[in-house]
Amino acid sequence: MKLRFAPSPTGYLHLGNTRTALVNWLFSRRYGGEFILRMDDTDLERSKSEYESQILEDLAWLGLNHDHFYKQSDRLGLYEKATQELKASGRLYACYETPEELDLQRKVQASSGRPPRYNRAGLNLTEEEKAKFEKEGREPHWRFLLKSEDVVWNDLVRGEVVIHAEEMSDPVLIRADGSPVYTLASCVDDLDMDVTHVLRGEDHVANTAVQIQLMEALSGKACEIQFGHTALITGAQGEGLSKRVGSLSVKELRMEGLEALAICCLLAKLGTSQSIVPHVTMQTLVDEFDINAFGRSAPKLSTDELWQLNGKILQLMTYDQIMPRLEESGVTEVSSEFWSVIRGNIEKMDEVQGWWEILYGDDTYPTEETEFIGGAEAVLPEEPWDETTCKAWVEAIKLETGRKGKELFMPLREALTGRIHGPELKDLILFMGREKVLERLRNARGESNESDAL
Ligand code: GLU
Repeated sequence: MKLRFAPSPTGYLHLGNTRTALVNWLFSRRYGGEFILRMDDTDLERSKSEYESQILEDLAWLGLNHDHFYKQSDRLGLYEKATQELKASGRLYACYETPEELDLQRKVQASSGRPPRYNRAGLNLTEEEKAKFEKEGREPHWRFLLKSEDVVWNDLVRGEVVIHAEEMSDPVLIRADGSPVYTLASCVDDLDMDVTHVLRGEDHVANTAVQIQLMEALSGKACEIQFGHTALITGAQGEGLSKRVGSLSVKELRMEGLEALAICCLLAKLGTSQSIVPHVTMQTLVDEFDINAFGRSAPKLSTDELWQLNGKILQLMTYDQIMPRLEESGVTEVSSEFWSVIRGNIEKMDEVQGWWEILYGDDTYPTEETEFIGGAEAVLPEEPWDETTCKAWVEAIKLETGRKGKELFMPLREALTGRIHGPELKDLILFMGREKVLERLRNARGESNESDAL
């Protein structure tokens, strides 16, 4: 079993094509197949090496490792050979229309209510007519002669698909500058690389019909590849994702602090009958992967959902799992206790830094509630401290100050952490210990500042 992800390095990975990469990767890993990464870079004008290296970096970061890597620009000889074969068998014919002439043709067709289909004028040109065009300086582009028959396949997502090829335009396979178009290169490669399954977005359904005919013309036998076309993801309002490439590129989401696993957990299940749940390993996603679970309606993706999942994933991580991530973000030498105290409050990795400063640092969090904090300080239990200490302290504060609930907890938290929300107070004070708690309370009242000044 061989699958491939074939991005065109003409832009960054966004969540739409990342999902295609992930689905192919999961399928290959689920069934012990091979995963090919292929750069579809025959469009020399639009392909950029900057995009290629970013795609490689993003895929590695996502954990989508490949078994083979190819670039179509290294394989031009194969496409040339295929071109000659198609010409010899009469399936590739020269056309001389300029883009403006083709445009006019489409407009005329549209105004008489006909579908925009190439009129095959090139097919009937005599040698003299061709020579005349070339004398005028026109270089031909080459079209694949489609057979006027239905192309039928059993799609892994959509079930039986029937495409009426007689309604389609013969596709251009070779540009006027002699370079091969994606369709030709992709078919040559899929055959040459023995690809067995092609999973991609449903925007490729019509391409698949053409590609099946082309692969059959090239190989001389029925196409054996199994195709699956997933419904395209839309934004929360149903708008196309690619229009928002900027805001949803993997590169940018990573820079904003999103975990790779959040992207994978969401995209592996989006648009399927399976529920979206946080996981802390890719293996779980591999084990649960089921192409039959993908439905036909367009799933909506919201970035809020992605961030919520991010928080849940971080909260599920054990100390051993989070440690490498903490080190990456510059937080080293933290104990497993630290992680268990704060993990329930983390939505984003960079928030760890803030809690690290609060719990390990010696910042001061001044309060105007000096009297109340003084009261709390006066009844702070002596050591040794344990799980019951916090409850005893809170009871004592109630008695001492007459406060309870929010009125009691908010200023206390603020004096201890500078924040009104955070980890459970009981865990927080146990982690800090009596000396630090006392120091924070004093500092909050401005006490030691005074003594510092002395
Ligand atoms: N380079 C094509 C794309 O990015 C690949 C499509 C495919 O054959 O999977 O749309």
